[in-house]
Amino acid sequence: MNVSPTPAVTRLWAEIDRQADAVVGTIADLVRIPSLLGDEAPVQVYVADHLRQTGLATESWDLDDTILGQPNAGNSGIPFAGRPNVAGVLAGSGGGRSLILNGHIDVVSPEPVSAWTRDPWGAEIVGNRMYGRGAYDMKAGVALNLMLPRLLRDAGIGLNGDLIVQSVIEEECTGNGALDMSLRFPADACIVTEPTGGSLTQAHVGVLWFRVAISGVSWHAMQAWKGVNAITKAVPIIQALERLDAELNAQPVHPAFAGINHPINLNIGVIHGGDWPSTVPGACELHCRLSMYPGQSVAGTRAAIERAISRAAMADEWLREHPPVITYDGFGSAGSEVSMDEPAIRLLGAWHQLVAGTEMMPRSGTGINDMRYFNFQGIPSGCYGPGGALAHAADEWLDLDTIVPTAKALGAFLLDWCGAN
Ligand SMILES: [Zn+2]
Repeated sequence: MNVSPTPAVTRLWAEIDRQADAVVGTIADLVRIPSLLGDEAPVQVYVADHLRQTGLATESWDLDDTILGQPNAGNSGIPFAGRPNVAGVLAGSGGGRSLILNGHIDVVSPEPVSAWTRDPWGAEIVGNRMYGRGAYDMKAGVALNLMLPRLLRDAGIGLNGDLIVQSVIEEECTGNGALDMSLRFPADACIVTEPTGGSLTQAHVGVLWFRVAISGVSWHAMQAWKGVNAITKAVPIIQALERLDAELNAQPVHPAFAGINHPINLNIGVIHGGDWPSTVPGACELHCRLSMYPGQSVAGTRAAIERAISRAAMADEWLREHPPVITYDGFGSAGSEVSMDEPAIRLLGAWHQLVAGTEMMPRSGTGINDMRYFNFQGIPSGCYGPGGALAHAADEWLDLDTIVPTAKALGAFLLDWCGAN
């Protein structure tokens, strides 16, 4: 597919060049407002104000608890009140295709902060890098979503189709914010502006969080043999989970993940057990994360976990009588994929090629992201955004050199997709 700049695209690109500092300023504003799980309100106020000032019909609302009953919902355990989703609609004049630009506003904890050499909330710029928690994942993407309609306005360009800008909560632990959006706003395509460094996330795994509670019997350690040590009873369960990880990686590889090393990952991320060196621990709990290929179900993955743990328990005299209790929290969602031949993806790829001079390469994510909910609703969706590194790590940074090219590719694509007037 070949594309070439129309007068509207040329005007928008000139506006992007003219206001490049304002785009970076918006990213910095967002980074300086911390937005950890449960504390998303202040930054969402900024987002809603920004959309309103541009002139979009803007709404903020708290998620309803009924979302928890939807397929592929998760449960963070944090009440929804006071942590709104935000959307702004730039209504087109008619006759064009609609587009969602989606981004998550939540960030993961910067802890341990002592590992950072910069202020995680400082948005400090050194050379072509902006440092900060969320600078890369993904406040840069949210800022692009906010600024594109403003740049269109300032360049005097109207759209034929609707543009819907969405800023969602809970991407990092459940996806409920995007799930809610996917049920509210129909559209012809959706781009999630996660930081992909100019590649297109075309497939990604599903993710399931689960907990395994193992019980023992507390006793004074001077007669430890009279108790049952819940920590040592967790060992065969941990070994069974390691075997499950190996088995899942021995299954036929989903074609989108061919060549990726160890695509399925079962992580035992948290262990709680015992509280005193001289007491036999009476309880131990594991918090785990397991991924699955697109097309595999949450129910099927839960069944595989339950089978593996039950087999291990049956081989142990104590665990046979006191089976570990499995519960599910956080993520509980299947993965998804979008065809590189989808018209929206092909068109974005063509504009990326023109701007960047390189092909928009497909990538498959071994982590989860919000694009899935739009694909589940029949709205073709992939991730495309700026570059940088160290997401979820100390000294996370955004490559500022990628901001203007990403804005130009996305902007030209949206003009082409929605139609300009
Ligand atoms: Zn992200």
